[in-house]
Amino acid sequence: MLAGKRDGGGGGAPGSCCLLLLLLVTGPLYTSAFRRLRDELPTLLPLNTLEGQDNQEHFMTTLTSTQQHTTGPKTPVPTTPIEVSQEMSAEEPGPDTPLPRSVRPLHYLVRLQPFLNGNFSVHGFVEVELVAVGEVEDGHSAPTITHFTGHSGVHTFTAHLTKPLNPGRRYRYSMNFYSNLKNTDKGFYSVKYKDEDGGERSLAITKFPPSYARRAFPCFDEPHLKATFDIQLARENNMTSVSLMPLVDTSPLEGQEGWVVDSFLTTPHIPTHSLAFAVSSLAPARNTSLSGLPITVWARQGVLQHTTFLQEFTPRFLTFFEQYFNVSYPLTKLDVVIVPGNETQAISSPGLIVIYQEAAGMYDASSSTSSHKQHVAEVLAHEVSHQWLGNLVTPKTWSHIWLYEGLASYLDNVAVSSVESSWSLNNDQVKDLQKALHKDSLSSSFPLYMPALNSEDIVDFLLNLVFQKGSSVVRMLRHCLSEKTFRTGLTNFIQRQ
Ligand SMILES: [Zn+2]
Repeated sequence: MLAGKRDGGGGGAPGSCCLLLLLLVTGPLYTSAFRRLRDELPTLLPLNTLEGQDNQEHFMTTLTSTQQHTTGPKTPVPTTPIEVSQEMSAEEPGPDTPLPRSVRPLHYLVRLQPFLNGNFSVHGFVEVELVAVGEVEDGHSAPTITHFTGHSGVHTFTAHLTKPLNPGRRYRYSMNFYSNLKNTDKGFYSVKYKDEDGGERSLAITKFPPSYARRAFPCFDEPHLKATFDIQLARENNMTSVSLMPLVDTSPLEGQEGWVVDSFLTTPHIPTHSLAFAVSSLAPARNTSLSGLPITVWARQGVLQHTTFLQEFTPRFLTFFEQYFNVSYPLTKLDVVIVPGNETQAISSPGLIVIYQEAAGMYDASSSTSSHKQHVAEVLAHEVSHQWLGNLVTPKTWSHIWLYEGLASYLDNVAVSSVESSWSLNNDQVKDLQKALHKDSLSSSFPLYMPALNSEDIVDFLLNLVFQKGSSVVRMLRHCLSEKTFRTGLTNFIQRQ
């Protein structure tokens, strides 16, 4: 996450300023630039492989104003990194400290090149257009960055500026960086799997909620700091990439044979945790909704035939929720990526649903049980409902997450029983209620609304209680209000965003 504030604490000299860059990148950084917004985007550097780089976090020595480079040579790549020292880390805020409010992001250009068939490094570039809202500047020239300080434990850094920013003025911050695709389930990470021939393959996938976008690229990683995003993904030409928005261009990557860059349409205003993308060798199965919306399900080639249920039900759930909310699906495509993994989780980003447990996206009529079929349908319905509740409408803080998960958990049952009347899921709702009551009776229980929820708490919160207790409260609310009033309220809630 990125933000700016007056340096009132420990670091800068009197009268200086710092741009607090709570920047979360898992690997080294190099070259940075800061300027007032007035020019077109600079030409991006060709991306080079990084074989042999170490995995330490570094800030590099070359820190110059981008203005000096707009007509001259491309941003130089420094050769002598400086390690972030522990002394520097000590002045940084701890994890989950709210960002200062003196800078807001407006637009990002994010370009990533993951080396899935190499050393699993990621070569990245990010440029952020931002507006200052809380500082006063006398002159008109852009400030320059004097130095960085960082907090490697929480992947944050602060860029210290020569003078404060001018409120109301737009600026650009740009940076090249590199990181690594770690085999974790956070940020932009890799998943290994076997293909249909038994060969080992890897894909790169994202998992950003609640606060892991910062591990993929420098950003303002708080849910209320929305912006638009241009995503560019470099890939080998025998792979594919997918993101929230439709693909608009594929161009050869200059100087790197066998590589291309996919560019995607600019996103709507979304928070960083709503971003998602993948680079993989997964195979597509294409379908369309009743209204002609392209729907693509991605899975391993060897199991693609078991996604027909998902292909059939995705458009049905889209139609159901359009009618239920009385609000049209706002985007022009929907992709569903089934990761060949075992994490029992799925995440719905605008236009892109990722199911992290392969079995949760598969149904084989010859061997799957009826209860598994219902489970696949519930997972899918839940994520499709989030296209409205959580994507079209987003929580301002994580304290409100119970409402979105509670509504989605209640409505996935409603949707499934609606499109498949032979499944009576009221019993499941009663089971959820009993589970919620049981968990709520334990000393480890949480209230549904948790002020100033931090990211670690969110994980426990979601795992422990919010789905069943939230959906039970929503179900009670629905019966108190009546179906008509409940749905009218939901429609108003969505349309006012
Ligand atoms: Zn959910």
